[in-house]
Amino acid sequence: MAKTAFSVDFSKWPEEDEIKTHNRWHPDIPIVEWFKPGDEFRVECYDWTGGQIHNDDSANDVRDVDLTKVHYLSGPFGVEGAEPGDLMVVDLLDVGALPASAWGFTGIFARDNGGGFLTEHFPSACKACWDFHGIYTTSRHVPGVRWAGIIHPGLIGCLPSQDLLERANKREMALFETDPERVPPLLAPPFADTALMGQMPADKAKRAAEEAWRTVPPREHGGNCDIKNLSRGSRIYFPVYVEGGGLSMGDIHWSQGDGEITFCGATEMAGFLDIGVDLIKDGVRKYGITNPIFKPSPIEPHFSEYLVFEGISVDEHTGEQYYLDAHVAYRRACLNAVEYLKKFGYTGEQAYVILGTAPVEGRISGIVDIPNACCTVAIPTEIFDFDIRPNASGPTASVSPSDVAHTS
Ligand code: ZN
Repeated sequence: MAKTAFSVDFSKWPEEDEIKTHNRWHPDIPIVEWFKPGDEFRVECYDWTGGQIHNDDSANDVRDVDLTKVHYLSGPFGVEGAEPGDLMVVDLLDVGALPASAWGFTGIFARDNGGGFLTEHFPSACKACWDFHGIYTTSRHVPGVRWAGIIHPGLIGCLPSQDLLERANKREMALFETDPERVPPLLAPPFADTALMGQMPADKAKRAAEEAWRTVPPREHGGNCDIKNLSRGSRIYFPVYVEGGGLSMGDIHWSQGDGEITFCGATEMAGFLDIGVDLIKDGVRKYGITNPIFKPSPIEPHFSEYLVFEGISVDEHTGEQYYLDAHVAYRRACLNAVEYLKKFGYTGEQAYVILGTAPVEGRISGIVDIPNACCTVAIPTEIFDFDIRPNASGPTASVSPSDVAHTS
């Protein structure tokens, strides 16, 4: 087995570790270990919140989570010979749970602390915990469903260059300034107080943290893309922006629906990644790369039947017509799916959680038929232990009365 290059210790907070995680992106975060092209190594990761969420039946921890501390990332790792303009080839040889932490969670985040895609409909903090059974998962908070994991890092990327850091800060702050008081906020601007800058010396870290990127959005270097099909067995090609590349990762998900719509919508977990690295010299120019590209895994859970919900770009409250707006159309598709699942005894929150973390397929199905975008969300029917297809006698099955965990 590959050597473990980064370890986690659940008996203490990540802040107390000797080799520290980082929760910001900055070109000067020191490389923790160097590898050669062709090397393989294992990386352990905390869950994205660094252990703030517990395996229990209260959502108080989701309500109270400190989102300025996320995401806790392992790395950065350097590849000898990697220079700006190269492509770093990263194989996700395997991704899995750690024996000390064989469970996961899905959070619906409160509107005033994170929010989510349907936050106007589900404004309160809720949580569902998931147990792992080999490759499968079930939840005491969401009965009647079971599926195989499509395990992936929600967040993986290389360190940005100083130039890219400054360019992104400029464009993001310009957006932020258009409505700085918005709830939920338009974006997470730099915030130094809770920044973890890895092995950077304290005086330097203090300055760098003022401009370091928060880890929330995906950017040109990859980062928090939350793509469920970037799963174990995938090969990713990252543009290199600094000497050595500086590959970091975290935010492992057991499963996720396209869009990760509850915000912490995946089944979040601590875990490990087995990584292989290689280089394509001058690959950015050779292949015209701006953002990472990847080749999905040869092994993914497969489903033969789906029920597909359509949505169009018309606001559900005002009836306002939007022009080819995929955001509105996908929201309507998801809301349509929620209403349907409620007919089988699920609460709205349980249905929302299923869409967030079951391996549902989200698509932009039509983006040219003025004025309506058409988005679809496809739910595999086989994840339910009863028949969810429509028929003449109406919904005949119903799950036993239950609910996600709420706050107290
Ligand atoms: Zn996540």
